Amino acid sequence: MSGNSIAEKLNETTEKFKSAGIDTPRLDAEVLLAHILNCRRLSLYVHSNEDLTPEKIDRYDALVEKRLERIPVAYLTGYKEFMGMKFAVTPEILIPRPDTEILAQGIIERLLLEFGEEMTLADLGTGSGAICISILKFIDNISAEAVDISNDAIAIAKFNAKKFGLTDRINFHAGDLFAPLEGKTFNVIVSNPPYIPSGEFENLQPEVKNEPKLALDGGADGLDFYRRIITDAPDFLKDGGTLAVEVGINQADAVKKLVEEDGRLGEVEFWKDLANIDRVVAAKKCQ
Ligand code: GLN
Repeated sequence: MSGNSIAEKLNETTEKFKSAGIDTPRLDAEVLLAHILNCRRLSLYVHSNEDLTPEKIDRYDALVEKRLERIPVAYLTGYKEFMGMKFAVTPEILIPRPDTEILAQGIIERLLLEFGEEMTLADLGTGSGAICISILKFIDNISAEAVDISNDAIAIAKFNAKKFGLTDRINFHAGDLFAPLEGKTFNVIVSNPPYIPSGEFENLQPEVKNEPKLALDGGADGLDFYRRIITDAPDFLKDGGTLAVEVGINQADAVKKLVEEDGRLGEVEFWKDLANIDRVVAAKKCQ
């Protein structure tokens, strides 16, 4: 018989998640319960012997059932932390990943050196807005144009921009990559485009299969969006401006090759993630 205390409920749920093959069973059980109780995870330990009310148990059990269907935790809680900020997320957008912080951090580090100058940034396929919003939160002298082909994504990104007080510094556009930005030029262009090769969808984790395919499918070899971005980026970059794109595992060399074949951008760099994987390809429009 399972009990109704916080500790008992967490143990029971952890076991269920473990049997279902969920990667982080204890963590997920705790995050969902802390969400229902509107408290920090640490409080679950402080109050571990206290009983949950039937109403809280019902609400928790409903979330646990959804998690067992491999709905990602962030869709159940409605938010995901990125760069120390809590972004609203819904099933219509890709959940921001820790790997993508490499892109945001790399840009922030470089822009901090451009002290004083007013700058512009474009974020292609902004999704939740996490990349451009976190960059603008850390860098004062930059404004952004954020584009996404999904109207739902634009709505969430706008919500997040408002949440972080950045409405005045970001324009949002529903549209296809550079299409809404005609005539504009930027100091920085960033993108985490869809890059999963279409044939690899079957092998994805069940959680990722519950995320929007539109945000993941990069065509037959996963490189479709890099081809389009690299073809157009030189026309939209100011002299000396930077293009930085997140890439999937083993894609960095292929993307570097696309940049070199085009020939209008140079100084190609790879930025590594914490697992030592080349996670970002950056290049400059040389003066
Ligand atoms: N990093 C994501 C994943 O591993 C893919 C994101 C993307 O296609 N841009 O599922």
